[in-house]
Amino acid sequence: MEKLSVKFRCGEACDVSFPVTEIVYNCPKCGGLLEVEHDLDALRETSPSDWKKLFSERFMGTMWPYGSGVWGKKEWVMPEVSDQNVISMFEGGTNLFWASRFGKEIGCSDLWIKQCGLSHTGSFKDLGMTVLVSMVNEMKKRGIRIDAVACASTGDTSAALAAYCAAASIPAVVLLPREKVSPAQLLQPLANGALVLSLDTDFDGCMAIVKEITKEKTIYLANSMNSLRIEGQKTVAFEIVQQFDWEAPDWVVIPGGNLGNVSALGAGFSMMKDLGVIDRLPRIICAQAANANPLYESYLKNFNEFHPKHALPTLASAIQIGNPVSIYRAIRTLKKFNGIVEDATEDEIANAVAMSDRTGLFNCPHTGVAITAFMKCLSKGIIKADERVVIISTASGLKFAESKIRYHMGELTGINARYANLPVETKADAGEVMSAIERFRGDI
Ligand SMILES: *Cc1c(COP(=O)(O)O)cnc(C)c1O
Ligand SMILES: [Zn+2]
Repeated sequence: MEKLSVKFRCGEACDVSFPVTEIVYNCPKCGGLLEVEHDLDALRETSPSDWKKLFSERFMGTMWPYGSGVWGKKEWVMPEVSDQNVISMFEGGTNLFWASRFGKEIGCSDLWIKQCGLSHTGSFKDLGMTVLVSMVNEMKKRGIRIDAVACASTGDTSAALAAYCAAASIPAVVLLPREKVSPAQLLQPLANGALVLSLDTDFDGCMAIVKEITKEKTIYLANSMNSLRIEGQKTVAFEIVQQFDWEAPDWVVIPGGNLGNVSALGAGFSMMKDLGVIDRLPRIICAQAANANPLYESYLKNFNEFHPKHALPTLASAIQIGNPVSIYRAIRTLKKFNGIVEDATEDEIANAVAMSDRTGLFNCPHTGVAITAFMKCLSKGIIKADERVVIISTASGLKFAESKIRYHMGELTGINARYANLPVETKADAGEVMSAIERFRGDI
């Protein structure tokens, strides 16, 4: 294969481009975000069936670095990084779970959950971070000075950044909103040796500061306004299609906060259509917490207006964002994919998680936001009972053990815990245990 070229280009269509090794995040003309542009003509020289064959051969294998769900599709993601500079922890290749019982209970026969949280640091953020940190490694090897990589985070970006930087031996700096991330999410970057700055503000406040400090080019910015992250995350779309034997589903439901992931999945499906791998696009539903729903409000006004807002606390803490950096590219994506935006109250989020957990899942609150949006569209008849739906589960429920247990303890104010299940304290006595089992039988 001849050398495939990629470059940064203005996402708002100014005639501006840069090499992907340049330290630049915004278009100097319009201030909009940059996008990674692939040479599609060069990629088209390989036929769709040859791509599918190549990707299937590599999938989940052990040949470095192609067994990774991200690097197995390196030509479509980031050909600019050489194999020996890739920093990978075999991310991706996650379970596409057929939620058969849950689907039956709510009236959808073809419901699937893409378990993106079953990854090295427990969220989909690994997919973008492997690309970004690999590129930093590549740039450093080419003699470009980068002293540290920094991000603002609601918890999962910092966990991923810290892990990949630790593997690469590159210093990581993470800015977290104090007391607004789960204990597991706080622990992750600490354990991986990052400089963890706990700021007395919210995510939007941390984001504003990280933008300031990364004006100094020796500190490289790892938030999703850096389009390298989007390139890795778009492999979720590639994988879904691959796992369905190279067919697109009817609907994809994605929880959205900073709105990079909606844009990423859109970019992935668009690329496959442009390359002739799929012949139609799915429709996309973006799901927001009602306490942090600036995109939803814009959607209600046909995207004619957008106003950032102050995001209120939500169980879905990773999407407590009032001023999403990828707002305009997300709106472009939703327009292209005939998209819908829904929101979910705290009561809906908690009960959607608990209800789906009863069918064998173990969902995080963000997945609960997506499930709620899906159920609303199903009950309105927008989604038909026999259509194929994929819900993007963004993180492992294990990262959110505290809020999940508080639900079952009935400690979450304003939430009617309809599926609470508590331990039955029982004497260490076979007779007592037997009678507890009898009472349980009576309940089911
Ligand atoms: C980051 C994150 C999201 C939101 O993704 P965006 O790209 O910011 O919209 C959703 N869920 C979890 C668990 C996350 O970590
Ligand atoms: Zn521009």
